[in-house]
Amino acid sequence: MTFLDTFTIYFLTLLGNVIMLLMLVIFAKTTGFEGLMRYYIYGKLLQTIGAALGLFRWLIPVDLSIILGNSLVYLGGALEVYCIVYVDKMPVASVTKRWIQVAAGITVGFTLLYLAGANTGTRVFVSAMILAVYSLAAAAGLYGCKNTTNLRKTLAIFFVVLAVSQIVRALDALPRGADYPLFAASSLQMISFISIYMHTLISTMAYLLISREVTDIKLKKAATRDYLTGIYNRMQFIQLSEKLLSLMIRQKKPTTIFMIDFDFFKVINDTYGHDAGDRVLIHFSQEVQSIIRKEDLFGRYGGEEFIIFAPNTTAEDALAMGCKLKAALEVSLDKDTSIPRYTVSIGTATVIPESLADIDTLIVQADQALLSAKRNGRNQIVQFSSAGNE
Ligand code: GH3
Ligand code: MG
Ligand code: MG
Repeated sequence: MTFLDTFTIYFLTLLGNVIMLLMLVIFAKTTGFEGLMRYYIYGKLLQTIGAALGLFRWLIPVDLSIILGNSLVYLGGALEVYCIVYVDKMPVASVTKRWIQVAAGITVGFTLLYLAGANTGTRVFVSAMILAVYSLAAAAGLYGCKNTTNLRKTLAIFFVVLAVSQIVRALDALPRGADYPLFAASSLQMISFISIYMHTLISTMAYLLISREVTDIKLKKAATRDYLTGIYNRMQFIQLSEKLLSLMIRQKKPTTIFMIDFDFFKVINDTYGHDAGDRVLIHFSQEVQSIIRKEDLFGRYGGEEFIIFAPNTTAEDALAMGCKLKAALEVSLDKDTSIPRYTVSIGTATVIPESLADIDTLIVQADQALLSAKRNGRNQIVQFSSAGNE
């Protein structure tokens, strides 16, 4: 049963590639060739020229058309997979070199096979296996990447399906030898040609969607996280705290805010340099993160001031938590002598929030307690009390 002839599908694939290429160039011109876009377009261009040579085989000597056409498709395909796998950032030069070697090896290998007089069946077998390897490489890269997402995993499954269809085509072609014309009219051929068509669609969609996802994640991070320490920035901290506070109001659970300020941080900067100061801030953020509970919110309030929102935490718990943090900092600084020694002052404010409680009032109270800690000599924890702190 064949309801579409393979020549038509091949032609549509080529046409689809040309249209996609055009759209990509227009898109990239307005968005400024972000990430690996330039290389993705080169990859597509190589494949399109290669596929065109396959279609217009009679225009140039047949040997040249087959060798050149296949080489361009393999090189372009490798470039395309490379861009999909490393969409967000180019790998180190040695990894890129390895990709170039493998792609060149595949291309030279196919050319030698052709020159050695391999029949059509063998050539289709090798060609389909190469496409399958490319699809599996894309799948592995998408699935195995460090921060894989549902989108990447789904696209990886698509690539596995495409690889399987190419392997079936390869195994079908091999035993047929010389009796296997490129545009053979069999339903299996038709399915595998459709799979090549789908490959063009899916790979471009994959590349564009993942690029978009990467950009969105970066933008979101830039908008919500502190650049130096990676913890919440002030705006995000306040937004999340407001939500959590309303939950605490409903549950009538004690809630504590910690305001933390480094003691004589200016001296640390002046003595060891701004870079060492930055390392101190990172060290502190990591220590706090290792101590606080999952539900606690931790943010950089500004400069060398940090803030913690601890839900379900009484004044007693808050004191214990503050002492635990101070002890952990001392142990860690004893161990890691590369970090300049530092101390912090902590002000806390605890309430069992009522319907009118707001985060700003709690912060003001914790700040007052912090001020008392500074006035009393620093390196200590002071808890806000409405009767005054001093
Ligand atoms: P105090 O004990 O009274 O809090 O004294 P202090 O020196 O810590 O306070 P002050 O407000 O005088 O100085 C804070 C310093 O923190 C000044 C500022 O340059 C430094 N600072 C703020 N943000 C950063 C940063 O991201 N990196 C570094 N290295 N320093 C920072
Ligand atoms: Mg300070
Ligand atoms: Mg300060």
